[in-house]
Amino acid sequence: MAQITVKDKQFKPYIGNDAILRSVKVVAEQINNELKDEFPLFLVVLNGSFMFAADLLKEVHIPCEISFIKVASYHGTSSTGTVTELVGLSEEIKGRNVIIVEDIVDTGVTLEKLHSSLTKKEAKSIRIATLLLKPDSYKKSIKVDYAGIEIPNDFVVGYGLDYDGQGRNLKDIYVLA
Ligand code: 5GP
Repeated sequence: MAQITVKDKQFKPYIGNDAILRSVKVVAEQINNELKDEFPLFLVVLNGSFMFAADLLKEVHIPCEISFIKVASYHGTSSTGTVTELVGLSEEIKGRNVIIVEDIVDTGVTLEKLHSSLTKKEAKSIRIATLLLKPDSYKKSIKVDYAGIEIPNDFVVGYGLDYDGQGRNLKDIYVLA
């Protein structure tokens, strides 16, 4: 794997597709073992998670449902602060065992908002599956149940993750050079 340019920045090879797929399989096996009787609803958080979700869910062999959402944040009134909306969610969440599928958990701000929206909708349980986790950056109390690969606080692209809209189609993960 060689160094590449995405838009105006140089990135160097970081995690190859084979290593990614090995981690994805481990996460899928954990889910298969732990959730076989729970009929989970996977909520794939777009855009970044599309590649991870596709590879992960091919290895999930338990009865489940899959849906895709986007998170939109806007400023409400001064009393409500930032409001997070789950765009595209048509499934009933109440009483469901939900697994949030994320590409990367960094500070956990996004995750916390998603978690609280799903709690308000009365999910029975909420689990988190992420391909990448930055443990040095993550300081929230919500448990990340399934993390494929832990990485330091570096900016990465590829395998769904973008730099300014580009690089999502790369099959490997690259880090800023
Ligand atoms: P958090 O709310 O956990 O701080 O950040 C979550 C979002 O920030 C991710 O869903 C992703 O869009 C973006 N993000 C965080 N770290 C990286 C990174 O290293 N590379 C890319 N491309 N996006 C990142």
